[in-house]
Amino acid sequence: MFHSTVDLKAEILRLGFQSVGVSKAVALDKEAHQLEQWLNKNYHGDMSYMEHYFDLRIDPTRLMPGCKSVIVLTLNYYQDQQHSDNAKISRYAYGSDYHKVLKNKAKKLHQWMMSKYGDIQFRAFVDSAPIMERVWAEKSGVSWSGKNTLSITPQIGSYFFLMCILTDLEFEYSAPIKDFCGTCKRCIEACPTNAIHQDGYLLDASKCISYLTIELRKNIADEFSDKMDNWLFGCDICQEVCPWNSFAKKTEEEEFNTRDFIKRDLDYWLELEEESWNTISQKSAIKRTGFEGIKKNARFLKNQMSKQKP
Ligand code: SF4
Ligand code: SF4
Repeated sequence: MFHSTVDLKAEILRLGFQSVGVSKAVALDKEAHQLEQWLNKNYHGDMSYMEHYFDLRIDPTRLMPGCKSVIVLTLNYYQDQQHSDNAKISRYAYGSDYHKVLKNKAKKLHQWMMSKYGDIQFRAFVDSAPIMERVWAEKSGVSWSGKNTLSITPQIGSYFFLMCILTDLEFEYSAPIKDFCGTCKRCIEACPTNAIHQDGYLLDASKCISYLTIELRKNIADEFSDKMDNWLFGCDICQEVCPWNSFAKKTEEEEFNTRDFIKRDLDYWLELEEESWNTISQKSAIKRTGFEGIKKNARFLKNQMSKQKP
């Protein structure tokens, strides 16, 4: 039985999400081939977890047997405050850790869906399982994948989190939307490490500053020393230059209110003690680097500044 999405969408918007789309759960054959090529080129760098659970990653019906639909939700995190100039932090980490915020909302949605549809299968994923969120966002008509490989919506741009929900319910499915990148190449031209392929839609993540400052456990290679553009945690350049982000609106989610550390300069991070790190990184996405990781990034930026001094 195919359910209408009218009530579901209304409830999802009531919970504070900005958009929702529903797609039939099918194996991603074309994307499986693309993922295989991407991994073969080692574009994932040291993120070996990307190689794991390949079969589950490309097929939600294997990830959750009985799965019929993928529901995709977006949650805006945009804040207009600016980070410090010499120790930049990516906007997604300005407030509280999004995992918990999204999971809490998912719990409420699950309760609502059980009260409406009865005993259903329901699993919510936020970065926590092998699932190709951006592909599902595209298929469900929530967003298109831009040349910078990020999901973009015409309403709010790309500063949002994605959550995928797998369920055994069937719905009336949404159609994909158009790719509105057109002839624009701003993100490709602005990327300081040339991580985006010259024709777009393909990212060498091993060159991306987000990977170098968050995922890479080793030291950052010298070849990037004049390319970091003062990013301490993550990088937003290909979002900042994207014209669709002129439609970004400040989030209404209080949990994403900006924390003080975004304004701290490089000296603060260089001098930071582990005890203070434990306090400021609590319930924050910046925790992912660990204390040693954030210090490593800070030292790399400091060395870069010293080299640039005449
Ligand atoms: S996040 Fe920064 S380094 Fe990564 S692709 Fe975008 S502009 Fe390039
Ligand atoms: S900057 Fe231009 S090309 Fe890049 S994602 Fe945005 S619209 Fe697309």
